Amino acid sequence: MADKSLICNLCNGEMQLYTGPRYSKKAGFFLVIVGIFATLFWVGPVLGVPLFLMGLYMITSKRQLWVCKECNTAIERIELNPEETASVKKGTK
Ligand SMILES: [Zn+2]
Repeated sequence: MADKSLICNLCNGEMQLYTGPRYSKKAGFFLVIVGIFATLFWVGPVLGVPLFLMGLYMITSKRQLWVCKECNTAIERIELNPEETASVKKGTK
């Protein structure tokens, strides 16, 4: 996917695409471990599996930011799915 470069609103500098983790990896690993322990020793898979999956999601989830090379202003890039985009278009006149 080719992205056009954005121009910073504040200083007209060139903005660069930056991809980084959305959540803290430590928190994600913590949830995975708690999920495994909960499944094996405590309440069972009803609580453990969702915790485990949530932890995995937090570890693998990424976000994209546009970061200005000049002044380090960052804009988060949000991926809208087609349904959300359609509802946004309906909302605007
Ligand atoms: Zn800037």
